[in-house]
Amino acid sequence: LFASVQLAPKDPIFGLTESYVADQRPDKVNLGVGVYYTDEGKVPLLKAVIKAEEAIVAKQSPRSYIPIEGPNPFNSAVQTLLFGAQSTLIQEGRVVTAECLGGTGALRVGADFIKRLNLNAPCAITNPTWENHRGIFESAGFEVIDYTYFDGQTRGVDFAGMVKSLESLKQNTTVLLHACCHNPTGADITEAQWAQVIEICKAKQLIPFLDIAYQGFADGIEQDGIAVRLFAQSGLSFFVSSSFSKSLSLYGERVGALSIVTQSKDESIRVLSQLKRVIRTNYSNPPTHGAAITAAILNTPELRKMWEEELAEMRDRIKAMRQGLVEKLAAAGVKQDFSFINTQRGMFSYSGLTAAQVETLQKEDGIYALSTGRICVAALNTKNIDRVAKAIARVLA
Ligand code: PMP
Repeated sequence: LFASVQLAPKDPIFGLTESYVADQRPDKVNLGVGVYYTDEGKVPLLKAVIKAEEAIVAKQSPRSYIPIEGPNPFNSAVQTLLFGAQSTLIQEGRVVTAECLGGTGALRVGADFIKRLNLNAPCAITNPTWENHRGIFESAGFEVIDYTYFDGQTRGVDFAGMVKSLESLKQNTTVLLHACCHNPTGADITEAQWAQVIEICKAKQLIPFLDIAYQGFADGIEQDGIAVRLFAQSGLSFFVSSSFSKSLSLYGERVGALSIVTQSKDESIRVLSQLKRVIRTNYSNPPTHGAAITAAILNTPELRKMWEEELAEMRDRIKAMRQGLVEKLAAAGVKQDFSFINTQRGMFSYSGLTAAQVETLQKEDGIYALSTGRICVAALNTKNIDRVAKAIARVLA
């Protein structure tokens, strides 16, 4: 039965972590991950999460099935977080939200839903993008194409190229957009540029699909939601996948949501009914625990405040590491301008390191990064940053 089964390639990110774990060097550093670490090199367990969890455990609730689309306290809190407490879309019943298994699950459920609309159009993703975007949409049966995004010279967005590329897409193409903290490059577009993207989506009748996996990691919860808010004002129907993996450090709980903005309450009712069919035939209904923690934090003012402070701490630490790396590279004698690392946002930076340089860092220094040169700035800390800067300076020399 399995004689002809080929060995699949390792997942580039999880595969790299396997190599890192097997590495015996005590001062090894894993910059290949997509996880936020504290200055002590640990995945944080947020105080707000501990508090919320204590209250949940004390209640001793039974674990029955929850609705196919997830619990309302969670779904409505997600809507408020994304669209704002005063959102007219929410008031008009034009947002459908379902708890999903992380941002990944939300993307997949969204992809399956769009596929069932039989639009016969591809899905367009940024070049480059998060590894899994292509796989998720291909698995859902889409042809996946790239659109221009990153400029290797400026290490920012090639916006003119992006516009040209988006304008060439065929009607009903699903356009996957990183709402903030672009993964893997850290390069985001400005508010004015988002307005232009919206106009193109309207003119070309594209289907916007916003992926927001790092809300709060660039400038703040509200500020990082700007793209979602602009789309909300646009009158377009669109999709949003959101994740609490990073912002609540709840990676393994798989907490995310898919929100679909429709044109009317009546449309919402029909869309939700179909969305439930997609979910029911996939995993039936979502898990209870992560969504309960998340809902408690978002809906309880005391916990919400605690979380916002902890999120700010994560954001500020990443910024300090960005600055530190730029300074330490210069101090180590690097002549190239690395100031772009301070401009890039979120957990990642496209460092410009070549695959060969990345390989040398891994072999000679036990410093792991992706072969594309993506480094996770959130894995730097005050103990490893000097060594990392010196090693990078050496491979660049
Ligand atoms: N979208 C992007 C851009 C991501 O970087 C990630 C996580 N690396 C996800 C979605 C998925 O997040 P989750 O772990 O919640 O599935």
